[in-house]
Amino acid sequence: MPMFGKRTGRTRSAFGSRLAIGGVIAAIAFFSYWRMRSPNPHTGEMQHVAMSTEQEVALGLQAREEMAAQFGGLHPDAQGQETVDRVGQRLVAANALDNLPWQFEFHLLGDEKTINAFALPGGQIFITAALYTRLQTEAQLAGVLGHEIGHVVERHGSEHLAKAQLTQGLVGAVGVGAADGASGGQMAAAAASMVGNMINLKYGRGDELESDSRGVEYMAKAGYDPTAMIHVMQVLAEASGDRGGQPEFFATHPNPENRLDQIRAAIRKLYPQGVPETLEK
Ligand SMILES: [Zn+2]
Repeated sequence: MPMFGKRTGRTRSAFGSRLAIGGVIAAIAFFSYWRMRSPNPHTGEMQHVAMSTEQEVALGLQAREEMAAQFGGLHPDAQGQETVDRVGQRLVAANALDNLPWQFEFHLLGDEKTINAFALPGGQIFITAALYTRLQTEAQLAGVLGHEIGHVVERHGSEHLAKAQLTQGLVGAVGVGAADGASGGQMAAAAASMVGNMINLKYGRGDELESDSRGVEYMAKAGYDPTAMIHVMQVLAEASGDRGGQPEFFATHPNPENRLDQIRAAIRKLYPQGVPETLEK
């Protein structure tokens, strides 16, 4: 149906006005996205983010109970809980992340089946018992937690939200701008969702690799041997074989084998002469 005027069917002018409205919506979507630019408090990089750092912290605190509940709640093992917290805070202190607007807290969750670790915006970080018990050293734990700290500091959640809002705006624009015939509308919707998926998938993988590099950097600065991150990837790959399927971790994290090259490159960049023997393994 034309948006304005007499019912003229699929005329050139009706299509033209839909196109114009679509263009305006797309322009608004881009303008809002552009206005969300803000420098990262840690890296200085200009980013498009949908939340302030204060909003990120508030969201993280608000959502932490619910997220924990989905993975068995907080683990009753006080010693394990203390280890996760101590290693996490060692990474935070060694990298001067405690001067930043985020509040880092590290939690061991009771779920013994789901191999996973994740971070909420603002600094709430979680590891399940299933992943925790598969790790052999503190350095490996530091690798997992360092990766998750990377997601917080790089503000991936806020970036995703900004992108999702942009995508939503553009999908609306394409919907209005395209012809309203069944096939035209369907094609436009399919094209819009494909564009949306492409953007989000691409950034998703990029985010993981970025967090891996950050994790390597953070653990090394805290005195942990970053090659432990390679062992973490091996643990994940083996766990995937064991179960005859993919652990949950891979739903949000790309294939560990693909990440190994990038992690090795990050370690070489950090230590071109080889990793010092003095680091904690
Ligand atoms: Zn990740």
